[in-house]
Amino acid sequence: MKETLKPIIEIQELDMKMIRLMRIKRERQKELKQIEDLRKELHEQLKDKKEEVEELNKQIRSLEGRISEITEKLKGLETRQTQIKKVEEFNALTQEMTAAEREKISIEKNVSDLVDKKVMEEELLEKIGESLKTSEASSLALEKEIKASIDMINVEGSGLKKERDERAEKIDPDTLAIYERLLRNKKDRVVVSIESRTCNGCHITLTAQHENIVRKGENIVFCEHCSRIHYWQESEVLEGTPVATKRRRRRVAST
Ligand SMILES: [Zn+2]
Repeated sequence: MKETLKPIIEIQELDMKMIRLMRIKRERQKELKQIEDLRKELHEQLKDKKEEVEELNKQIRSLEGRISEITEKLKGLETRQTQIKKVEEFNALTQEMTAAEREKISIEKNVSDLVDKKVMEEELLEKIGESLKTSEASSLALEKEIKASIDMINVEGSGLKKERDERAEKIDPDTLAIYERLLRNKKDRVVVSIESRTCNGCHITLTAQHENIVRKGENIVFCEHCSRIHYWQESEVLEGTPVATKRRRRRVAST
């Protein structure tokens, strides 16, 4: 294997860990956001319901005011009626009073309906308040747990980054730049071995000539199908690296 690739492969393993870690972190952040959204939604529902109840109260108060006015008016009409002598005037007043009575009854019915509605809305308001309380209590514990796990991910992440930075300093910068550009494109392993004359990245069969060039390890050789960098798997070179350990584990698991 081309010697410059060995430290790159080690960096690659760190990068894979980092990619996995960041994926978990994003998932956990998404969970946090869902909890926050749910709470926000319940708060909004609660606010809307409160406004609805307040609006009903306003309507009820205004109608009750109107009822008092009509009651006063009726009292006045009654007093006037007792003082009237002429039949026509008396009848006219009776008609006016009947109309006022009718209006009063209709408004009272309206108020009674609004009060029923208000009672219902208040019950809903209470229910929303209760579910908000329950959900806040349970989500608080969950949120704490998620935040703690994000903190742990951050610690692990900065450890990985430190190790990577240290290793990157010792590496041939040109090879590193090529590797990093490929990694940005694929977000996956980009320095891969050849197994049974097949690229371990795209799993497409390679030519014998390509395999020979890789085996010689004189230059960096790219897969002509997926542009990944190929290396020749030599057990003595890879011994002790993460790749070798993983391969061995896989072999043990499959037997
Ligand atoms: Zn390939």
